[in-house]
Amino acid sequence: MERKECEECGGKLVKKKVEFKMYGISLGEFPAEVCTKCDEEVFDEKTSKEIDAVAKKKGLWGLAKKVKIVKIGSSLAVRIPKAISDFLGLEEGKEALMKPDKNKIIIES
Ligand SMILES: [Zn+2]
Repeated sequence: MERKECEECGGKLVKKKVEFKMYGISLGEFPAEVCTKCDEEVFDEKTSKEIDAVAKKKGLWGLAKKVKIVKIGSSLAVRIPKAISDFLGLEEGKEALMKPDKNKIIIES
């Protein structure tokens, strides 16, 4: 489907190759229609499928998981799913820095 105007702001769309990142890791450059006004990037269905395939190949697919917050003593805790700890190379006993970022928690290893 070819679009001439951005759905978000009505700006002009131009075709270009853009880098697609998932969890901060580049999956490569893919053709997209990019709004010259708001930078909204639109990928067609074929390209979206290609991006999904690359994400699966790199082991990035399905890394986002729902976790439950539990209570340990007076603190709250979450379990880090194995797929995520493997992906980040987290190990028991290693130090990490936890910090809030608006509505997120960032844990840096
Ligand atoms: Zn726009």
